[in-house]
Amino acid sequence: VLVCQFQHRGAEGILYLIVDYQHITHPRSRTIKIKVEPPGKVIVVTPPRFSSSRVDEFIRKSEPWIKRQLEKIKQARPFGETLTTVMVFGKQYKKNAILQNDQKIGVVVSDGELNINPVQLTEASISNELKRFLKSTAEKYIVTRTRQLAEKMGATFGTITLRQQKTRWGSCSSQGNLNFNWRLVHCPPAVIDYVIIHELAHRTQMNHSQKFWQIVERFDPEYRIHTGWLKRHGMTLG
Ligand SMILES: [Zn+2]
Repeated sequence: VLVCQFQHRGAEGILYLIVDYQHITHPRSRTIKIKVEPPGKVIVVTPPRFSSSRVDEFIRKSEPWIKRQLEKIKQARPFGETLTTVMVFGKQYKKNAILQNDQKIGVVVSDGELNINPVQLTEASISNELKRFLKSTAEKYIVTRTRQLAEKMGATFGTITLRQQKTRWGSCSSQGNLNFNWRLVHCPPAVIDYVIIHELAHRTQMNHSQKFWQIVERFDPEYRIHTGWLKRHGMTLG
């Protein structure tokens, strides 16, 4: 196993793409193969005694493809998370994963950092604990805040359900049951308020009429800024 690195002048002329790749030889391998794995590992498999200059040349030729694969992996990351950070209530936190056998499994927040104590030091176990923490934080906050805002608006509602929907932040059924995306936990509090106010306003107006927006504006005068924030993050509201 050989770890190599090369620098290559990109089409822009100024930017350099650095690809770290792992070269693995396989006795039964007949041709050169390249794969890109999360979180961004490039692996080259070749038959034995394959010269490193030929590998370099192959990587260079495959650069547009590698770039596309790396971009895909980056985009597959959920909203609000990067490889090293996670946004909670609009604030960026550094993610740390440390095995602490004498501590409770879960997440502890301190000094702008999220310390994750997973069951195992694997990507799956770490993301599992983080997800559990984000979900329960979202649930506590959104349920409390919905009750407070409903009282302020004089609105009633049925049940509150939190789930991860791919394209929606929230919705309100004709029975008055509310649905919220637990990924809202990444948004600034003012944006979360807007989503709750929006859904509660549907309790009197089951549409997006002028009357509906008047109710929204009464309880969130800056709702235009907040809809803009959500639009930039690519999801919609029901
Ligand atoms: Zn709506």
